[in-house]
Amino acid sequence: MKVTTKNLTKRYGEKIALNKVNLEIPDSSFLVILGPSGSGKTTLLRLIAGLLYPSEGKIFFGEDNITQKPANKRNIAMVFQNYPLFPHMTVRENLRFPLESQREGQIFKKRIYSDEEIKAKVEETLKLLHIEEHTNKYPSQLSGGEKQRVAIGRELIREPVLFLFDEPLSNIDARLRYEMRTWIRTLHGMINRTMIYVTHDQSEAMALGDIIVLLNEGEIVQIGSPDELYNNPKNRFVAEFIGNFPMNFLSFHKKDKNLILNNDKKIELPNSVEEIVSRNSLEEGEIGFRAELVRELDSERPIEENMLILECIIEDVEKVLDQQILTLNFNEERIVFVTKTIKEFERKSTIQIIVYAESIYVFDRAGLRTI
Ligand code: ADP
Ligand code: MG
Repeated sequence: MKVTTKNLTKRYGEKIALNKVNLEIPDSSFLVILGPSGSGKTTLLRLIAGLLYPSEGKIFFGEDNITQKPANKRNIAMVFQNYPLFPHMTVRENLRFPLESQREGQIFKKRIYSDEEIKAKVEETLKLLHIEEHTNKYPSQLSGGEKQRVAIGRELIREPVLFLFDEPLSNIDARLRYEMRTWIRTLHGMINRTMIYVTHDQSEAMALGDIIVLLNEGEIVQIGSPDELYNNPKNRFVAEFIGNFPMNFLSFHKKDKNLILNNDKKIELPNSVEEIVSRNSLEEGEIGFRAELVRELDSERPIEENMLILECIIEDVEKVLDQQILTLNFNEERIVFVTKTIKEFERKSTIQIIVYAESIYVFDRAGLRTI
């Protein structure tokens, strides 16, 4: 099912939870909605599910305007963190339940299934869930991942047109989270239904998403592939939010045609960066660069024109597997430097780092990226 939202807005009293959200989600796609807590992710999903109605704007399923259609007529599956299985029913009975209650006209007055049809659909779903050997177990006998798969199976079996996942994996341990998200991707490949997956975890979004919609304070900040968001952030918020380490930022201002980095200490910026700043006639702003792209200056090698060299003090060194994460102090501004070298660094010692001009981003005072 293709889903389109037009100027979708939700207010709670004075509070604008979602502001003029325009989305076009192609049929059969897997879309990730990413944003910090409170950015409006759940509100957006609940509006699509029909559990909330918008203050303004419209929602289309295909070409149908379903903005006012009640939730139980939308045929949507919503998966949350908890998995509401009936404890007194086996896996098979739990899976059968939605179809049987449908037959009894209790929940979804939709299609009536015969006994044979129900049996066939339960078997088919068990296969999709990779859970055949647990068919006769009760939920208490299943692992967390198995319970969640059964919970998803209970949605799957009624053939919803759209799957909505609201941070389904945020409270489970890292290994299971990895296993479950891989499984959800595989499931998407098998059933080819539109799925919208919400998370506040950028690394999860980067791993899952073909396309990520990044929300902040109820508005779409940027839509793009993980690569685009990482390499081509639209503003400071994106640059900070995406990546295993937030981007480093150093403030600058212009003084007598020179660019001055913080604390009035004049640093020669590579010409290419100077040019950008003059072209955009920025009086002040910030340069940004990724912790992963910082290098240590090698005094044996010649200095090149495109190097920005910064002398810093090492404040802290943290070793994480094959990486060392250094926190540096550059004129009272913090720089994070990630390296795979096996060299030992000493706290409070001085280090010269290089940032290449090509990996420098420039932001204006409002945080908008100019290059
Ligand atoms: P997220 O899921 O991204 O954490 P939500 O969609 O839950 O964000 O919330 C978006 C904003 O709307 C938050 O500031 C939240 O406090 C506010 N909000 C959510 N639900 C309500 C409500 N029922 N009444 C008032 N404010 C709400
Ligand atoms: Mg939420």
